[in-house]
Amino acid sequence: MPSVSKSSSPKKSQDKNNDNKKISSLSEFYCCYLLRSIRKTQSFYIGSTPNPYRRLRQHNGELTRGGAYRTKRQGTRPWEMCFIVYGFPNKNSALQFEHAWQHIYESRFITNNDEYKNYKFTKSSRGLHFKIAGARMLVHCDHFKIMNLKIRCFNKSFYEAWKTNKYKLPCNDAENRLFLDIELENNDDLDIVRGKCGETQSQNITKSTQDLNPLINDGKSPREEDPSSSENDLYVSDINDPVIKIARKNLKLVYTFYLNYVDDLKNYYEKSEKSLIYGELSCELCHTSFNYMDEKPKPKLAFCYHENCNSISHLHCLYKHSTKSAGKLVPIEAKCHRCDNVLEWISVVKNSIEIKNILGN
Ligand SMILES: [Zn+2]
Ligand SMILES: [Zn+2]
Repeated sequence: MPSVSKSSSPKKSQDKNNDNKKISSLSEFYCCYLLRSIRKTQSFYIGSTPNPYRRLRQHNGELTRGGAYRTKRQGTRPWEMCFIVYGFPNKNSALQFEHAWQHIYESRFITNNDEYKNYKFTKSSRGLHFKIAGARMLVHCDHFKIMNLKIRCFNKSFYEAWKTNKYKLPCNDAENRLFLDIELENNDDLDIVRGKCGETQSQNITKSTQDLNPLINDGKSPREEDPSSSENDLYVSDINDPVIKIARKNLKLVYTFYLNYVDDLKNYYEKSEKSLIYGELSCELCHTSFNYMDEKPKPKLAFCYHENCNSISHLHCLYKHSTKSAGKLVPIEAKCHRCDNVLEWISVVKNSIEIKNILGN
């Protein structure tokens, strides 16, 4: 995920249609997730979504529309999002991963893989370690490896279970993509998470919540996010109940992660867009000069997202440069020629397509 300097204030778009276009493609975040029932810890659910925050609220019955049937079963709510796998280049690859993870014992990604032939999982294999093993094998298999997927845990015990690698699977590089989100500034500010921006809340958080609400709502009507449309007010039902406390903390962690992720994408796009208005530009790698606004057709460009670096190159120049140095057909990472920092190839490409789709006509 790109991490972009947040110091510059977001540029307001003058064109409403443009803004809508931006929102629709920027919200193309896809992840697969594992839920565990907090009350019935042997109940799990694997799914995929463009918006883990909204999805978790649906599973817990807080949003009336869109809850999955299986997570409504009696006594299983609330659900906790154990971890998510993210970094998919598109919706299809996330759906493929979801399906393979749900049916790991018959997945061709696993059964065709020589490394895994000694691991006999069956339809009846259960438990957290088994679910983790499935995700672990998939992120490591050839098909998904090139996507450089990441795993974000929202609970320390899941993080440790992942690291334990109970089935001793030969995929050690999975550790480098594992992240743990457990730090919270304040457990009690759940109202912000649920879109009720009180006057007492810090201005910063309130502002970014409002800014990103269209993304978080994922194009759905605001009514759907309105807590009064809840079929059960789970997160405030009994805030002294330890189970509800866990659910509240979990929702806050998922929300914070998602908000930051979407915020980073938005900042990256805005930084890139801004750098194109300065007239004459030059590719960092081939040194060809061009004026983006005058070019027809417009080139696909690669922008550096690191702080204080405004490096621009042709996407194909960065591609040639990266595959040559890595000796691979598809690069996982590229290196910025100017600031020397690593760039995630998928993020650079997605941003490049985004810029061309919006400004390219
Ligand atoms: Zn070039
Ligand atoms: Zn750079």
